[in-house]
Amino acid sequence: MSLLGYNTNKDIILIRRNTIQCSVVLAAVQKMQNHPTADEVYDEVSKEHPSISRGTVYRNLNRLDETGQIHKLNVPDGPEHFDHCCHGHYHVKCEKCGKVFDVDMPFIPDLDKNIRNKHGFDFTGCDIIFRGICPGCKKKEAGRKR
Ligand SMILES: [Zn+2]
Ligand SMILES: [Zn+2]
Repeated sequence: MSLLGYNTNKDIILIRRNTIQCSVVLAAVQKMQNHPTADEVYDEVSKEHPSISRGTVYRNLNRLDETGQIHKLNVPDGPEHFDHCCHGHYHVKCEKCGKVFDVDMPFIPDLDKNIRNKHGFDFTGCDIIFRGICPGCKKKEAGRKR
């Protein structure tokens, strides 16, 4: 009986720890607001929680994406970025520094309705990412030329 009680307590502690870790990761993404990569989230989280492991951060980022609390952006030629903002919007990736920014343009909600599905796909979504050079990198470039 006592053994059972102990296990239950341990489970509760484990669940509580998982919940705390999960909300710490969520809070970091919400605070950063700059589409961080998993590594950048880990760096941010580990400042205040040095004991948290990289794997835990990665796992929670994926969990939060699955539950729809954050959005995982699959970026071509680079690591995934995580967005605190889950409503539909588009992005631009800087070709110089690799950072991802929001693009201010109307969202097309039923874009997938325009797909002529000839190959029997189940479409699950899409990430539209423009390419560009961000203002910061442009400024750096201009400074170098002078
Ligand atoms: Zn840039
Ligand atoms: Zn975004």
